Amino acid sequence: MSESTPETGRTPRTVVVTGANRGIGRAIAERFVAQGDRVATVYRGGDLPDGVFGAVADVTDTEAVDAAFSAIEAELGPVEVLVANAGITRDGLLMRMSDDDFQTVLDVNLTGVFRCVRRASKGMIRLRRGRIVLISSVVGLYGGPGQVNYSSSKAALVGMARSITRELGGRGITANVVAPGFIETAMTAELPQDRQDSYKATIPAGRYGQADEVAGAVAFLASDEAGYVSGAVLPVDGGLGMGH
Ligand code: NDP
Repeated sequence: MSESTPETGRTPRTVVVTGANRGIGRAIAERFVAQGDRVATVYRGGDLPDGVFGAVADVTDTEAVDAAFSAIEAELGPVEVLVANAGITRDGLLMRMSDDDFQTVLDVNLTGVFRCVRRASKGMIRLRRGRIVLISSVVGLYGGPGQVNYSSSKAALVGMARSITRELGGRGITANVVAPGFIETAMTAELPQDRQDSYKATIPAGRYGQADEVAGAVAFLASDEAGYVSGAVLPVDGGLGMGH
């Protein structure tokens, strides 16, 4: 398609955001809708923002992910932008963390991202352009007590983005990581109050972030202007991680 939106003069793209039913994913999807893109989500259910096409899949299920992307492509055309946002925590101290707690988090946060990236990249390679944005976390590089599973999964996304960059960079495809800090969502509301307070005391910005601020960074990395940015880690953390 080659039409451009009257608001922006940009050519709309098909954008997939995983887990757009709530939290940061929802804000990212809303951002792309506002830009005039065709937006879809791979999600497990729930209410979606206006203008977002939903394809139901659990990211731990390869066949369901593949089918969801096929449904999206049939409805909206080839996927040009993938934002791998769906993620979970299952916190616990190392000594008491079960194999299941570790594996489950890895299966959603790392292998789930791999499943989506692998499927989305097929179309991007054919198109000879694409934008892949992986939502990591400040915890991936800074660490977090009780989050050995979560931080391992999030750190691994940096290696994934950099390998994709080396493998597909010559085909007009970029892969970058956004590493949010402490963002006000349901996920962070579940943290104990003492942990929330101690995090806030270490944030140079002196406040928590908003989901919309993460969406702005994602929109930049997905834009034409960011065509020469790949394999990068863009923190959106008020200075908390400083320099990863
Ligand atoms: P939420 O818990 O609010 O949302 C998580 C999203 O992921 C939901 O849409 C959820 O779907 C989806 N999801 C979880 N598991 C699966 C699965 N197996 N298959 C498909 N979808 C799934 O989290 P946030 O919005 O806060 O976080 C979004 C991303 O940002 C995550 O990757 C998180 O790690 C990261 N992040 C968040 C930070 C924060 O401060 N909030 C900080 C740093 C990173 P469902 O509604 O069905 O459960």
